[in-house]
Amino acid sequence: MIMQSTPPLHRPDSVHRKAGRADTKRRNLRTILRLIASGGTTTRAEVARITGLTRATVSSLVSDLIADGLVAEAGQGPSLGGKPPTLIELNRSGRHLVVADLSTSPFTGTVVDLSGRSVRAPLAGPAESTHQGNLEQLLATLIDESPHPISGVGLASPGVISEDGVVIEASNLGWHNHPLAELTERAVELPVTVINDAQAIAVAAYDRLAGGPAAGIDAVPDLLLIHLGRGIGAGIILGGRIHVGSHRAAGEIGHSVVDLAGPECRCGNRGCLETVASSAAIYHTIVGRRPASIDWNITKLEDRYGADTVAAAIAEAGEAVATVVGFLINALDISLTAIAMRPGDAAKPMAAAVARSLTNRVLPALRPDLQVMPVEGEDLAMVGAGAILLQQEYGLPWAAPAD
Ligand SMILES: [Zn+2]
Repeated sequence: MIMQSTPPLHRPDSVHRKAGRADTKRRNLRTILRLIASGGTTTRAEVARITGLTRATVSSLVSDLIADGLVAEAGQGPSLGGKPPTLIELNRSGRHLVVADLSTSPFTGTVVDLSGRSVRAPLAGPAESTHQGNLEQLLATLIDESPHPISGVGLASPGVISEDGVVIEASNLGWHNHPLAELTERAVELPVTVINDAQAIAVAAYDRLAGGPAAGIDAVPDLLLIHLGRGIGAGIILGGRIHVGSHRAAGEIGHSVVDLAGPECRCGNRGCLETVASSAAIYHTIVGRRPASIDWNITKLEDRYGADTVAAAIAEAGEAVATVVGFLINALDISLTAIAMRPGDAAKPMAAAVARSLTNRVLPALRPDLQVMPVEGEDLAMVGAGAILLQQEYGLPWAAPAD
């Protein structure tokens, strides 16, 4: 299963009547499912009214969705004079997907339902294993432990990902032309979709910061998400769509050179953004050596090395990030930047540091609306991968419906 396109975040699929009959039916099923998922409970008559489809067509399609376990009936609504209508809603537990975050070490994974919510606590894979072995063991455990059948797997991986799930280049994992989807599909015998980690986090951040499509997202259609972890990547949402680029490499900002005389990078250049502002680089600035893992904690470092030392290191890294973010903002005219970081408690001071350094790097006309916000959560990449997968497979909206 591959990421075919960059789906719209907030525009409902239009109802097509002129395509082939099977295509039309599939599109209409997706439109109806999306509508039902966005609105909490609704009725067949309401779906017909909004889509412009006949009541008979809607009834038939809703029956198909119920038979597939994607929609459920939910009692009777208030009568409008005649027979009370039967309410229908998304059958959240009708499908379950396993999603994993490959930007963590070891990898972490969880299971999400049709609303994109985790139905179990995140699980870490075995540390002592190859990356592919770690992943396969993690997925096998998640699938074995799940009380529900699993319909597919979504992987949020660092690096440039081809359309058919090959990781073209992920230097932090040592992967070059690594056929991640194919190997994983063979191991778990389920369809596997691979999504860039920063793009997945951008989707989760977009929903979280802007309140999702249901909150009238038209007001905030653009988002620049910067993910600082082992590597550095950007997720760019333009007009409500993920921008993947001509070579699917959009957002690979980690090897942008910010200091020609800087330290040598694993890519062969000097002074890449990652050598200055990755999680390990910041730790190195504070402690004087590289960390054993990226799961360090900013509060502990402040206690040990002093708040001023930590703040200075974050400010230095934030300035380098702001340089690259400033270029992107001037090129793309995006007002809202979100910062996601590992460790999670560094996102807030990093967002503040980037905001401070950004003003002088952005066109004066763009400054009044500039916002830099931290986005926190250990599960962002997993939640985002789940949302993208649900959109691709079922046409579901990116935001989970409210309770
Ligand atoms: Zn580099």
